[in-house]
Amino acid sequence: ISFYQLGDFTDLCKGPHVGSAKEIGAFKLMRVAGAYWRGDEKKAMLTRIYGVAFETEEELKTYLDRLEEARARDHRKLGKELDLFCFSDLVGAGLPLFSPRGTMLREMMSNYSLSLRGRSGFEKVWTPHITKVDLYKASGHYAKFGAELFMVHSQVNGEEFALKPMNCPHHAQIFASRPRTYKEMPVRYMEATTDYRDEKSGELGGLSRVRSLTQDDTHVFCRKNQIEAEIKNLVGIVRELYTTVGMSKLRARLSYRSDEDKYLGDTELWEMAQRQIKNAAIDNNLDFFEAEGEAAFYGPKIDFMAEDAIGREHQVATIQLDFVQPERFDLTFVNEKGEKERPVMVHHATLGSIERFLSVFIEHTGGWFPFWCAPEQLRIVTVNDEVLDYVSEIEKILSEVVLEKPLKHNDLRFTVDKSDESLGKKIRRATSMKIPVVLIVGPKDKEARTVSLRMKDVEKTIELRKIVDFLKNLD
Ligand SMILES: [Zn+2]
Repeated sequence: ISFYQLGDFTDLCKGPHVGSAKEIGAFKLMRVAGAYWRGDEKKAMLTRIYGVAFETEEELKTYLDRLEEARARDHRKLGKELDLFCFSDLVGAGLPLFSPRGTMLREMMSNYSLSLRGRSGFEKVWTPHITKVDLYKASGHYAKFGAELFMVHSQVNGEEFALKPMNCPHHAQIFASRPRTYKEMPVRYMEATTDYRDEKSGELGGLSRVRSLTQDDTHVFCRKNQIEAEIKNLVGIVRELYTTVGMSKLRARLSYRSDEDKYLGDTELWEMAQRQIKNAAIDNNLDFFEAEGEAAFYGPKIDFMAEDAIGREHQVATIQLDFVQPERFDLTFVNEKGEKERPVMVHHATLGSIERFLSVFIEHTGGWFPFWCAPEQLRIVTVNDEVLDYVSEIEKILSEVVLEKPLKHNDLRFTVDKSDESLGKKIRRATSMKIPVVLIVGPKDKEARTVSLRMKDVEKTIELRKIVDFLKNLD
């Protein structure tokens, strides 16, 4: 605790205080607000002045620019402007509704995550959204997260169900549904599914924190000596996904146990797992640091932090080992000696929650989504009606375009604006929706069999016969 004194005023604060504004350096007053003396509305109203100060003008300017940039990119603002998602008082706080564009965006991301994991040996599973509370009592989640559960009451027999807040215990039940042998280990499940958590409404805002969160959830059940290989596999997936979305600068925190006795599972297993985590980090050239005492009580983990376009760091994916759930559900497989052996469980979500990922991704891109995942990838804008037959020809060509990277079988999504508005207005409308590719088609283009291309940083004319190759090679 520190105190600072100015004259007869003593302040309990982190400090420092200065004797005069001259000593501050560069500063800017940001806003004023009224505040009652000692928080009592019967007392005098004081004026509280908020400001920021830096040592140099330059640092102050950098800070203010960044603040402005962050404001312009605010995902709640862009969510409205780009018609991605909305909220309704009748539906409830923290329960976002996705419009067609937002739904397309989230499906692109979810499908990409599924396809990356599918290529890395994961199989899709499906689990229902409600479940008997007994499941969470058995898993141990009820004791810890009981207050966050949305309860569902059966009107038929009074049974208590809960909306699932996570999927791990369900996946464990699928693993446990038949005998397993060492030959089929590791078993890898994935699911993109929505979970429900009763967060306090005060904590909800935009997509960063929601009560319906969709996880690209992944669980591996593996042998103790397979941990390293499984982590490498997952790190590869994380790296590929975040590189594709333009956030390749990743840092990883390896969270280990400390000497406290709050950790469950035997110490030897912990140490072996921590060694394997570190090896996987080194072999993958991860930019990592180690944090003792940061592990969950049930196992060590890796947390990834990604840097966005304006230098902010966001916590994104995690890889979490779990020695406790396999015990609680008595999960086993039969080893080479015919004995029952306990698997280790690995929890992972690459995007994390899709909603939270979108809040980061929208701000990272400022709404200029990469071509492959943009809800509307291309818009044809006509100069006048003379070109309509030529435009039909272009439409026919585009309707057959299927993009193959980074997501396979991705049908091109395009629209045509042949309204009677002026060309300038039509182009502005397309630009304000941040459509990656706009094709302007006029009589001269028709004559020369070309199209005029307008992108964020590119303007050029291209021959119609080359358009398909051009689009297929766009990033
Ligand atoms: Zn899990």
